[in-house]
Amino acid sequence: MTAENGIRSLVARRAAGEISAAEIAAHYLERIERHDGDLNTLISVCAERARAQAEAVDAGTAADGPLAGLPLIHKDIFCTEGVKTSCGSRMLDNFIAPYDATAVARLAAAGAVTLGKANMDEFAMGSSNETSYYGPVRNPWNRDYVPGGSSGGSAAAVAAGLAPAATGTDTGGSIRQPAALCGVTGIKPTYGRVSRYGMIAFASSLDQGGCFARSAEDCAHVLGAMAGFDARDSTCVERDVPDYAAALDGNIRGLRIGLPKQYFADGLEAGSRAAIDKAIAELEGLGAEPVEIELPHTDLAVSTYYVIAPAEASSNLARYDGVRYGHRCADPVDLDDLYSRSRAEGFGREVQRRIMVGAYVLSAGYYDAYYVKAQQTRRLIADDFTRAFADVDLIAGPVTQAPAFRLGEKLDDPVSMYLNDVYTLPASLAGLPGMSVPAGFVEGLPVGLQLLAPWFEEGRLLNAAHAFQQATDWHTRRPPGYESQETP
Ligand code: GLN
Repeated sequence: MTAENGIRSLVARRAAGEISAAEIAAHYLERIERHDGDLNTLISVCAERARAQAEAVDAGTAADGPLAGLPLIHKDIFCTEGVKTSCGSRMLDNFIAPYDATAVARLAAAGAVTLGKANMDEFAMGSSNETSYYGPVRNPWNRDYVPGGSSGGSAAAVAAGLAPAATGTDTGGSIRQPAALCGVTGIKPTYGRVSRYGMIAFASSLDQGGCFARSAEDCAHVLGAMAGFDARDSTCVERDVPDYAAALDGNIRGLRIGLPKQYFADGLEAGSRAAIDKAIAELEGLGAEPVEIELPHTDLAVSTYYVIAPAEASSNLARYDGVRYGHRCADPVDLDDLYSRSRAEGFGREVQRRIMVGAYVLSAGYYDAYYVKAQQTRRLIADDFTRAFADVDLIAGPVTQAPAFRLGEKLDDPVSMYLNDVYTLPASLAGLPGMSVPAGFVEGLPVGLQLLAPWFEEGRLLNAAHAFQQATDWHTRRPPGYESQETP
């Protein structure tokens, strides 16, 4: 993609009066109307609100920030005042958020317009977007395939051109994995970079907001507006947000890029491997220096994550009790009945499974064997990265072992679904920033290149992805049937 049809040019053209925010919003609402029926990317469309916001931008009565008039889709995990915020669950099907998440408020203050709320795995638990109460999202590259999860609706919507960008969250890969499977660019920043306030909690020590767009440059614009300190999230880090977009120079000469041996071992599908190898050769051609590295505790990541994340989830989800908000069963006979039936009806199977696993690993007698042990292995995994980054500037590898799988293929086999996360979980456990960058295709399905950077080096990450995108055109490819994505 050239910069001419990216976010910067869209915002500049609007500012110059070549196109109005109302026209831009109408273009995307029309695409949603035309295509979302096939893809199921959205849980709610906010057409009226989007038109009103766009008109306010045009009238000069809305915030005139750096994203003025830019339409966005928010993952339905972000609270949006006055709009249903379901988190993909029947439990919150009736929940109208009374306030905006900080990320949403910041984007609105930058002038962004909300088109709708994206479908997602229930409470962000999943890798295929099939656990949503609202039905699966379909991959625009082939509608028989999954878009990845849990931010599958956001990724698929951007791939199909239903919005120029979308927000997402990544607890164990939920931005990088759907970005890879849908052929869009996605960034998960460092834990603490984007406020979690108003972002419905799954596993609080891992949850991090980020975004999807068609290029690293576009991600830089959106992330720059979302990120920053927020006193209402105790783990949000007080640290200046660089101007990511302005810093992009596409120069990666001399950058040392670590290739973890463990990410190229058995299990990586041959076509994906070929695409990743080619992408690394491309980075080398741009002046980067690939170096083989070791992340020796990689094989502990799946078991570590699938103890810690359910443990935190079982605690976070205790708040859904049918009393103050959320689903309430009909005619409870007593308080126990209210709790148990409301939760049994409100939560889907995967969420229930996680709550049971989480409660088990936290229970007296098992806490030390599972939860404490997982905290220790989490540290080993993080230390692997500390050692690696003493020698390299970035790490590169695959996002997933293979491209998208068929809808239904792994639904009855949770372990195979969990194993799908093997390359994304380690960075989440370490709190590192990561990206997925389109890097080729296998039989018509996209492959993503994963890039990881040291803590708070999102700028370095975005610049490497930008350099790659200046030299390749994978990110400009459009799924057949969804090609015409340019704004008028
Ligand atoms: N697939 C992982 C899970 O199911 C990660 C999800 C996420 O990052 N939200 O927990």
